[in-house]
Amino acid sequence: MTPTGPLTIAIDGPSGSGKSSVSRAVATELRLRYLDTGAMFRALTWWCVQQGVDLHDQDQVAQAALDVPLSMGTDPQDPHVRVAESSVDQAIRTPDISAVVSAVATNPRVRTHLADEQRRIIAESRHSSGGIVVEGRDITTVIAPDAEHRILLSASEDARLQRRSAELADRGQIQDSQDVRDQVVRRDRDDSTVSAFFTPAEGVHGIDTSSLTFAESVAAVLDVVRQPSAAHTVATDHTSHPPTSTPGA
Ligand code: C5P
Repeated sequence: MTPTGPLTIAIDGPSGSGKSSVSRAVATELRLRYLDTGAMFRALTWWCVQQGVDLHDQDQVAQAALDVPLSMGTDPQDPHVRVAESSVDQAIRTPDISAVVSAVATNPRVRTHLADEQRRIIAESRHSSGGIVVEGRDITTVIAPDAEHRILLSASEDARLQRRSAELADRGQIQDSQDVRDQVVRRDRDDSTVSAFFTPAEGVHGIDTSSLTFAESVAAVLDVVRQPSAAHTVATDHTSHPPTSTPGA
């Protein structure tokens, strides 16, 4: 069964669970819009650094969240992020930003401001484009608890560390294993003080991608969307449209 809109597909998961690349592929397959909410927190962090804002000054950072001239592209094949008309897609994914983004994301007023913008983009996409795949840490629980489909992607710590290392190497950012561990394990620990993304909340489908290929992970999500009455943890027998790109965060 192919779903008809409007549809919101909410996908959460820790770092390295595969949620970004899987969400983009699902949005492409279903011809929906795509929103990477992590990129919004990263772009705000990048902007604060550019403006010389002390990331631990809660008031200044909250004000920056209101002021940042952020524009999020929602085409899953070109999900650009712009700040004041400059493309920041590469700049927001450097290890320097990964190392400090949690300080911004755990600011409660930042979360409130960005949540407003995330909900506005979701509503606009439902109205104009049939729906959206939204991925992050609190989408299934806080941002879109009423989404038609809510999925939590998980993976073992080893699998997540390996994927993050491969992703950084692909970008030419070779990091030692302690730095990668900081970007995955320490960051998730800090982020989990404000969002619950390790275990599925009530009514959320859990998919463990540890032993799944990228194509299998995409197929598992599509199975959930196409069979809404499926059990909360899906089996790994996947038959639908395997895409060809490589795994990612
Ligand atoms: O998904 P990604 O790793 O790019 O997210 C970057 C950061 O943004 C996370 O480490 C977390 O601090 C924050 N984030 C969040 N809530 C979301 C999405 C991301 O706090 N919904």
